[in-house]
Amino acid sequence: MTEFDLIQRFFAAQPVARDDVVVGIGDDAAVLAPPAGQQLVVTTDNLVEGVHFAPETDPAAVGHKALAVNLSDLAAMGAEPAWFLLNLTLPRPDAAWLEKFCAGLFALASAHGVQLVGGNTARGPLNISIEAHGFVPEGEALRRDGARPGDSIYVTGELGDAALVLRHRLGTHPLSGSDFDAIRERLERPTPRVREGRLLRRFASSAIDVSDGLAADLGHVLEASGVGALLVRDRLPLSPTYRAHLAEAGWDPALAGGDDYELCFTVPARHDAEFTRWQPKFGCRVTCVGEIVSGPGLQIVDAAGNRYEPQRSGHDHFVASP
Ligand SMILES: [Mg+2]
Repeated sequence: MTEFDLIQRFFAAQPVARDDVVVGIGDDAAVLAPPAGQQLVVTTDNLVEGVHFAPETDPAAVGHKALAVNLSDLAAMGAEPAWFLLNLTLPRPDAAWLEKFCAGLFALASAHGVQLVGGNTARGPLNISIEAHGFVPEGEALRRDGARPGDSIYVTGELGDAALVLRHRLGTHPLSGSDFDAIRERLERPTPRVREGRLLRRFASSAIDVSDGLAADLGHVLEASGVGALLVRDRLPLSPTYRAHLAEAGWDPALAGGDDYELCFTVPARHDAEFTRWQPKFGCRVTCVGEIVSGPGLQIVDAAGNRYEPQRSGHDHFVASP
């Protein structure tokens, strides 16, 4: 199969056709028409086999996740996703793999109305790189530098399940078959909090997506905002499966495990009422885990108020990052 055949067969016919795509796949470059009064929000992320996903991972899950991690970054900016580009490096044009990959990729693209508008393919070790584009009304993007002392800190969904699944895969914390099945999607098919990100524009002072562990990512917000935070470890939202493993696994997968793709955001007290009004529209639970303070750095305390330090911050990989 030539590269052209491959593109034609798998990527030219796709489920989303947006009015703002003037020229899509098939020319030298795409021509796109952003709406008036909106700013373009652009991000890119890649998945490398053996580093970000295990070789035996379902190709449909790989397709889903490659787009999901980018949509999660757009969500963290409060953006509405619109278009994406795909750079695919494959060891060989494997039709069976591509078919499943595209099924996972385009199912998520359809769910969010995002259109593939171009890309490239090359031969080499399996590597999926996506660049995603979205919009925000002028000046309304959520940033990392807006947190102020007194703001409450919230996270969406639940933390740590993805890290537990990864530990299971690495053999460091085995899960039973039913426990693994209950949470495996949290690593393999994370849910980008796109709708929640857009709602946050109304009341959040800062936001970030939790990709490298809450402690590390909240740390980026604190640094950008020039503030500190008090985080209460025992308030972290955990799934029932994680709760059942808490005694053995401890709190660190939820604090520092990574791959959660939840949103962490701050809400000033003056927006509490607005936040309460809009919270029912969230598609997931939202939990207050602490407060922004003026002092520098992140202080984590347990339920009794004693200082707690996670064993490690940053996320696990299948192989060590260079
Ligand atoms: Mg991010």
